[in-house]
Amino acid sequence: MGSGTRPQVIAIEEHYLDEDVDAKVNKQAGGGEDTRKRLLDLGELRLREMDEAGIDIQVLSHCPPGAQAFDKDEAIVRAQGVNNRLYDVVQARPDRFAAFASLPTRNPDACPDELERCVKELGFKGAMIHGLTDGKFHDLPEFWPIFAKAEELDVPIYIHPGRPHPAVIEAYYKEYAEKYRSILSAGWGFTVETATAGLRLVLSGVLDKHPDVKIILGHMGEGLPFLLWRINHSFSKLFRPGGDDIQFRDLFCKHFYITTSGNFSNPALLCSVMEMGVDRILFSVDWPYVENAPGTDWMEGIPLSEEDKAKIYNGNAKKLLRM
Ligand code: MN
Repeated sequence: MGSGTRPQVIAIEEHYLDEDVDAKVNKQAGGGEDTRKRLLDLGELRLREMDEAGIDIQVLSHCPPGAQAFDKDEAIVRAQGVNNRLYDVVQARPDRFAAFASLPTRNPDACPDELERCVKELGFKGAMIHGLTDGKFHDLPEFWPIFAKAEELDVPIYIHPGRPHPAVIEAYYKEYAEKYRSILSAGWGFTVETATAGLRLVLSGVLDKHPDVKIILGHMGEGLPFLLWRINHSFSKLFRPGGDDIQFRDLFCKHFYITTSGNFSNPALLCSVMEMGVDRILFSVDWPYVENAPGTDWMEGIPLSEEDKAKIYNGNAKKLLRM
């Protein structure tokens, strides 16, 4: 339990930065020096800010690009290093930390074994995949073994934003990217990229082939809950090659979970509850890109029952991540 009468608070999209990835991507974690300092901290500063906001447990995930930064020939060894160091962090404070694996997606064939190792040997709760890998979305068939393994292990895959494709930046954002950097990230570009990734997963057929796959989207579902009716209405009139019509809404609500990361909005929450049900919504902050206290302060006053609030704070995470 958390302090006082507050339910235990588990936050599941909370980032850090591994030293090896940091060296590889040449300090491009984003967000400035304050953010960088927090990403690198896996002790005192992080725990103090968790305590100040009443967050009991962070499920740690690498910030983009994580092990996806490593070239194919070294990807697996480097990814193992990243995940082994994260394991050490969790082992030091198992009462405060849990982990999502970082996967070497530039070597897709190596990902299933590393996911299995992380879950079975290191006790990780699933994996997080960022944005694109070499410009490719992860619904392409070469990545399907990741989802097959996740289904077999009964762990979720968290689909997290990454920087938009360079061609998209050129065509859509370049006139505003310098003055308004957020158009490429949390202000718009991240959302469009990740909503597209979610949509493509449904259309790809990977969820039909693997009916027990569980996908997590942050940021209150990247806008998809608000758009479900229209997407469903549009796609249900079309037919896939196999001849079945696409019931987008059914597939989305069967396979997807969403979190509150960086989107502390009552209207967005209520829309998501109405479309997906409260059992599909999990608390997260997106620390350190977003501060903890606005997240827990907002949760205090959300217009849901205490029982539903507890599900979002911890109950749904305990079930989905088996914590
Ligand atoms: Mn994030």
